[in-house]
Amino acid sequence: MTQTMIALERQIPLYAETEILVVGGGPAGTAAAISAARCGRKTILLERSGQLGGMGTLGNVSIYMPVGNTTGIYREIVAETVPNALPATHKDSIAPQYSPFELRHYLNSRLEREGVDVFYHTSFIAAMKEGDRVTGVIAHTREGLKAFAAQVVIDCTGDAAVAMEAGVPIRSGRDEDGMTQPMTLMFMMQDTGKPVKPFLPEDCYTYETVAELPQGRHLYWERCGNGTLLVNMTRVKGNGGLIRDTNYAEKEALKQVFSVAHYLQRNGFENYILSHVAGQTGVRESNQIEGLYTLTEADLLNGRRFPDVVAQTNYEIDIHSPDGKKGTDERHIDGYDIPYRCMVPVKVEGLLVAGRSISATHVAMSSMRVQPTCYALGQAAGIAASLAVEEKLPVAEIPMDTLHARLGGQGVVFLK
Ligand SMILES: Cc1cc2nc3c(=O)[nH]c(=O)nc-3n(C[C@H](O)[C@H](O)[C@H](O)COP(=O)(O)OP(=O)(O)OC[C@H]3O[C@@H](n4cnc5c(N)ncnc54)[C@H](O)[C@@H]3O)c2cc1C
Repeated sequence: MTQTMIALERQIPLYAETEILVVGGGPAGTAAAISAARCGRKTILLERSGQLGGMGTLGNVSIYMPVGNTTGIYREIVAETVPNALPATHKDSIAPQYSPFELRHYLNSRLEREGVDVFYHTSFIAAMKEGDRVTGVIAHTREGLKAFAAQVVIDCTGDAAVAMEAGVPIRSGRDEDGMTQPMTLMFMMQDTGKPVKPFLPEDCYTYETVAELPQGRHLYWERCGNGTLLVNMTRVKGNGGLIRDTNYAEKEALKQVFSVAHYLQRNGFENYILSHVAGQTGVRESNQIEGLYTLTEADLLNGRRFPDVVAQTNYEIDIHSPDGKKGTDERHIDGYDIPYRCMVPVKVEGLLVAGRSISATHVAMSSMRVQPTCYALGQAAGIAASLAVEEKLPVAEIPMDTLHARLGGQGVVFLK
């Protein structure tokens, strides 16, 4: 099908110049901005929404999955926001549930304390380039389009939005058919201490059995000790990087939220009300960049170690069925390294990509996508970008021993 193309030429005011520009304020973006600022670099972070924390707050994915190495900025955040969960050593795995509202507030003040200039309601639109080099971005702000110039840009949008626009090759989903993990709208219920009337709006579903539920299983946590139940039980097939699929998901997932809550109110949670629905449907998987190295299923299964390690995890292979079936492919792994090269895109200079959209196959990303790992990748990307600025080097050529030394200086410990 031929597509009508519209030419656009605009003069955009240069709003700010910085050394490091982070796009996206989720786990990867907040950690990248903190670590770059700690290197003494002038750092700006652009965030599309009004809050930091990404899927953890916006998507209400308010539980950390265990990764077997609780270290660096992630460890600091746990220590300051869920101190009871902090393990004695970084080697112990934890999976604490947290308050997304408290994390949102904490990250606002934390980034301010670290000296990061955060621009909320600022959406990346286009990459500025000189030849193959990314030199900044055009963003939509509350005051219209503005340009932000930078020496190094770190794409932490989760969707590789900057990389894609800048011309980095992108892959999405399974090799055989491109299908991604399904989307889920997370919600919370609250124990009121007395029976409540189950509520079901029109056009929703009446689930009677576990088998009828969207995931064919129960998946919820109640670990905060205050009667807050965090529910991950909706499931909508589709690719969160596509307009059509996300449009459908926002409507279908909300129907499922009411329907699952209604089911729970009749099956064990008779005292619980629906207390919070995330502002947007959560996207597990959309776009992955092609980087200097692509993390594979074999790397995970073989417990592969890399000299340019930047993050370590033993989180399982965890693939919610992409084709709408009820199952989830969950496979134990012993632990592996993620190399720096997964964050360095091919074909473009002056750009790093951190978080879930690094260079990884569908199976490999199902394990590395969880929040603690995205914090770890972001922390490394912020330091790497700083080194590229300080040493005036391409991001692919920063000295690995200095990167590791700086990570160590910022509290990151790797397991041998
Ligand atoms: C339903 C669901 C359940 C999950 N369960 C768990 C779990 O139990 N535990 C766990 O640890 N992990 C879980 N995950 C995975 C984890 O939450 C994400 O993979 C992780 O948050 C990704 O971090 P990120 O920083 O790469 O991206 P995100 O968290 O997606 O953050 C990206 C940020 O970039 C911003 N952004 C996007 N585009 C633009 C733009 N154009 N301009 C400016 N800003 C932009 C977004 O608003 C967002 O703030 C789950 C994910 C989902 C969707």
